[in-house]
Amino acid sequence: MSLINGYGYHFLTEPQLIASYKLTRNELRHMKQLSESFILSINCGSSSLKFSLYRALSLKMELQGSIKNIGSENGIFSICDSKQSVLQDERACFPNLGAAVAEIVTWFKNNHHKYRVVAIGHRVIQGGAEHRAPELITSDLLEILSQQIYLAPNHLPAEINTIAAFKAAFKDAVQVACFDTLFHRNMPVYAKRYPLPAEFINKGLAKYGFHGLSYEYIMKKLTVKIPATKRRKIIIAHLGNGASMVAVKNGMGVDTTMGISPMGGLVMGTRPGDLDPGAILFLLKEGNLSYGELDQLLSEQSGLKALAGTNDVQRLLTDEAKDSKAKEALTLFCYTAKKFIGALASAMGGLDILVFTGGIGENSPVIRERICEDMEFLGIELHQPSNHHNNEIISSAQGTVQVRVLATDEEWMIAHHSRNFIDNN
Ligand code: ADP
Repeated sequence: MSLINGYGYHFLTEPQLIASYKLTRNELRHMKQLSESFILSINCGSSSLKFSLYRALSLKMELQGSIKNIGSENGIFSICDSKQSVLQDERACFPNLGAAVAEIVTWFKNNHHKYRVVAIGHRVIQGGAEHRAPELITSDLLEILSQQIYLAPNHLPAEINTIAAFKAAFKDAVQVACFDTLFHRNMPVYAKRYPLPAEFINKGLAKYGFHGLSYEYIMKKLTVKIPATKRRKIIIAHLGNGASMVAVKNGMGVDTTMGISPMGGLVMGTRPGDLDPGAILFLLKEGNLSYGELDQLLSEQSGLKALAGTNDVQRLLTDEAKDSKAKEALTLFCYTAKKFIGALASAMGGLDILVFTGGIGENSPVIRERICEDMEFLGIELHQPSNHHNNEIISSAQGTVQVRVLATDEEWMIAHHSRNFIDNN
């Protein structure tokens, strides 16, 4: 059923559909319902809430919207349709996530006659070792997630509240949890085990990895573009405000830069990336910090922001000529990324394809150039004009590693999982 293309559906009569796709009448009814239905994807961040609406049958995007700068005076609520026509552009203060969710829910209620939402997919950062595959959101699952807040104290509370609000507002829609950890489920034990006492490991202290929905989307794209993708050794660099890399071998994520939380690995906008455990002890002692203060420092006050006062890479690039802190921050960002490419390539025993994605990875030729500089020893060599034009393939013919720039789409991946869920249940 899920193979049926939504466009084809509209051009065939019922008997033709039944004959062409060997459908039963029940399956045809299900398809008709889907063709008039929509799936909403929700991606809840710390200060923003992104959402996209898709046609349930074809997974064509119908609407895309977000509320940005939640908690500040400069909130922006915007919605565009698939042709980028603006349907909503409101400047207002959304004091907290609850206010932002309420605004989106009201918008959908007012436009309910246009969009029959049958499923809502939610990005969920973490469900522990037992919950990685897309799952129906029941009260039991919400209870389990509440018990696991200690694994992701920075993200899970907001996600749980957002899910609860959408569940209450869209009572007839199936709600599906799409975990960001799924892609990393096959990491070998030696890659995910922390060398710490068993009593903590038994409580779930392990490397989970994140940005899984983004990686899954990129792998889907690569599989269409490159033959035998499963035989290639691939690094995907998701460089956005949050940034990580994954090593993909035999089609599976075998190692990644983030661990139990999305604070580890690469230097990020407001998170530090990997630290010597001694640095945490230093902060606790010298800063006399509580657990909450330490968490806040590591998730919101570190990284590029700590080094140069802002987490906006585009701004740092503009400022670096006259601002040495901006220059140093970008140098550290690129140096760390370069170092991890070497580490992940070693972990796989080689490298065939390097993909850049995320806001920085997709849009900044300069950052890609700096990361790939002096990497000829690994076979990475950029074709500068292609890189500067943001072409899809940016490696030179001399290099043995194909370097690509691909746009990611986590919301589409959420919709895809949610639709599969409806199809199979
Ligand atoms: P998030 O993790 O919040 O989804 P994004 O993937 O949207 O983040 O990436 C945000 C980052 O991308 C910001 O640091 C922004 O400055 C950077 N960025 C966006 N466009 C460009 C560009 N043209 N050049 C350099 N950096 C850019």
